[in-house]
Formats: sequence, structure tokens, C-alpha cells
Amino acid sequence: MRMFRSDPRKSRMPQNPILIPERVAERAATRIDVTEEGCWESTYSVASHGYAQIGWQDGGYRQVVTAHRASWVHFHGQIPPGMTIDHRCRNRRCVNPDHLQLMTNVKNARGGGGFHQQKPVPTDERCSRGHIVLRYPSGAKHCRECAQEWARRKAARQLLKRSGLEDQAA
Ligand SMILES: [Zn+2]
Ligand SMILES: [Zn+2]
Repeated sequence: MRMFRSDPRKSRMPQNPILIPERVAERAATRIDVTEEGCWESTYSVASHGYAQIGWQDGGYRQVVTAHRASWVHFHGQIPPGMTIDHRCRNRRCVNPDHLQLMTNVKNARGGGGFHQQKPVPTDERCSRGHIVLRYPSGAKHCRECAQEWARRKAARQLLKRSGLEDQAA
């Protein structure tokens, strides 16, 4: 997207807050393992602070942001300055937009209530399985049911693996 191109005549220092390119945001939102609790655990590596991180190159600079912030951008658009993205689910690896909330830094530190934010709205569209597709404020579309079905199938496969029945089932 054009707005992310940095002007080479200007300082190349990373901006604060960092603008997260949509391609990065989309990767963060889709490279996930869905848990039965509905958490989307990022498959990106987890840093010492416990959050998954995603990086990219921007004008020779290596940019790194937390995966949940990038996922938020995919569904809601860029994060306003001074705002933080908090996990309702307390799972720091989670990038599920329904488990994230926009907060002021102060409120997050105090564990206070969430900032008012737009919710996804149902569209007239159906996914390939016939579920109602939701549209998020950024325009990103998503089927919640398919994500949960995928999680259930994956959990069932893992159970089979743990119980050693996989070979017989195949
Ligand atoms: Zn979660
Ligand atoms: Zn679906």
C-alpha cells in the first residue's frame, strides 16, 4: 500500500507507532493454531515477554511488532497513537480479534474497561460452507464458524495422536 512507502529524503528511523503493512497484518492474522477455547495462537516465535512477534524489512530497517497488534490491524485498521491492544483471554499468543480489545495505555495498566470499538457486522455473503461471513471495521472478512470447526477437527486429530490410534484410523 502506498501510504507505507517511506520517503527516502526523510529520516528513516522507525515511526512510533509503527505503521503495520497490510501484508504483514494478514500474515499475523492467518498463521495460527486455533484452540478449542477459540484462541488463535500465533505460530510465530514467542519473545521473552511472552508475545509472538512478526518482523519485516522497511527501507533497510528491520521492523518488529507483536503478532496480536498486527492481527488487530488486519481486522480493525492501524492502531491510534497511545493505544494498546489488550488480551481479554489472557493468552499472550492469541491473535483472535474477538479476544482483543483496544485500550489506552493507562487503562491497560490498571486493568480497567475496554475502549469503545466497532464490532464486526454480518454480511450477506456466505463462506464456502454456507456460514454467515462477518466484516470487520478494516474491511477484512472472516467466518467464525469455519475457524471453530477447524479447531475442533485439529483437537480431535491431536487426541487420536496422543492415544496412539492414529495408525489404526488411517
Ligand atoms: Zn484468545
Ligand atoms: Zn464458514
